[in-house]
Amino acid sequence: MRDDLNTFRKEVRDWLENNCPEEMRSPIESEKDACWGGREFTFQSESQRLWLERMGQKGWTAPDWPTEYGGGGLNGEQLKILNQEMARINARPALFSFGISMLGPALLKYGNEEQKQMFLPPIVRGEIRWAQGYSEPNAGSDLANLQAPAVDMGDHYILNGSKIWTSYGDDGDWMFCLVRTDSDAPKHQGISFMLFDMKTPGITVRPINLISGLSPFCEVFFEDVSIPKEQQVGELNKGWSIAKYLLTHEREMISWTGLSKAGADPLGETAMEIIGGTDGILDDSILRTDIARFEVDEMAFALTIERARDEVKAGVSLGAVSSWFKFFGTELNKQRYNLLMDIHGNDALAWTGEASDDGKLARDWLRTKGNSIEGGTSEIQLNIVAKHILGLPG
Ligand SMILES: Cc1cc2nc3c(=O)[nH]c(=O)nc-3n(C[C@H](O)[C@H](O)[C@H](O)COP(=O)(O)OP(=O)(O)OC[C@H]3O[C@@H](n4cnc5c(N)ncnc54)[C@H](O)[C@@H]3O)c2cc1C
Repeated sequence: MRDDLNTFRKEVRDWLENNCPEEMRSPIESEKDACWGGREFTFQSESQRLWLERMGQKGWTAPDWPTEYGGGGLNGEQLKILNQEMARINARPALFSFGISMLGPALLKYGNEEQKQMFLPPIVRGEIRWAQGYSEPNAGSDLANLQAPAVDMGDHYILNGSKIWTSYGDDGDWMFCLVRTDSDAPKHQGISFMLFDMKTPGITVRPINLISGLSPFCEVFFEDVSIPKEQQVGELNKGWSIAKYLLTHEREMISWTGLSKAGADPLGETAMEIIGGTDGILDDSILRTDIARFEVDEMAFALTIERARDEVKAGVSLGAVSSWFKFFGTELNKQRYNLLMDIHGNDALAWTGEASDDGKLARDWLRTKGNSIEGGTSEIQLNIVAKHILGLPG
């Protein structure tokens, strides 16, 4: 077994050496470095395109998915080796994809064979970019209150209503969406999970402009949108179970923001460079203590995540633990950026101008606050931890 893994490691190392373009061997610095794939994606470079193509063909954009759906078919040990070998050369993820981190696991569990064959291989190859149609103006934390009605018309549904805060809704090719299919049933029991092409007639997407000057979110309006019945996932009115399962994957994905980026300088080194120190010890003793405390927490979190991943590979369901991870990971990332702001002092507040990299640090710092809202707010995660992990009364 050990020999097999050593052989596998060598194969992975050789493959990465031969196939990961040099330009893809550095941390992602900004949104534009991230490859999201999809029908209309504009690659930043030929290296970015090649890296996606090669990783997609190998199935390593979804390394632990079954090979019959285009995935890499790796087991837990092999997956760990792939991750280690990618980190060794600072290889970037070839693809960021809600299809891989959110929809795919739900389709693998709840989709029928036809749906798996139709959607999973193109997701692995980065050919479909997905948008998440969950939140509505009166359904955020209380998600089960969603109202968008989908009416049964025989062989299809007709969808009306709207969604809000849809990340990259204007770039999405398809949407996975929660709709109301029974308005008389108790609210959790009248929801269904549907998939549709964003080019279907009757869909209007309107970006929401933020104070930062960006519009990463959209409102999406539905006017008599026709959804073929084959695009309903799972049973009618049982969409809430799928929604919750998908959220555990979304929360786990968001919790990774707590882990430091491969290749990024540790905070202590950054602080030494900017503030300075004596004999390798940072001069500012308060900051030194805060950074040390942060680094211990970060290490403990990384080890806990790794242990949980091993448990998941052994068949244990992450369930409510994903809420704890999401809470802790996003708090940790906020703490990391608070410390970076302290380290950089007044310069960190610059919003424009070349010296500030057009306010990158300040903008990234603000973005960390969104991490503890998206996928369910910190308060909601703590409610879940209290109820489902600590067993406290609801
Ligand atoms: C960066 C970002 C990306 C997003 N992307 C998407 C997306 O792609 N698709 C999508 O569908 N949605 C998306 N969302 C929406 C997100 O899921 C909601 O914002 C979130 O669930 C909170 O809902 P809300 O904004 O309606 O706030 P509300 O539910 O109105 O909450 C307001 C405040 O009240 C608190 N609160 C509410 N209920 C309780 C309670 N029971 N106990 C304690 N406190 C409570 C909340 O914690 C919060 O502080 C995104 C949000 C962000 C910030």
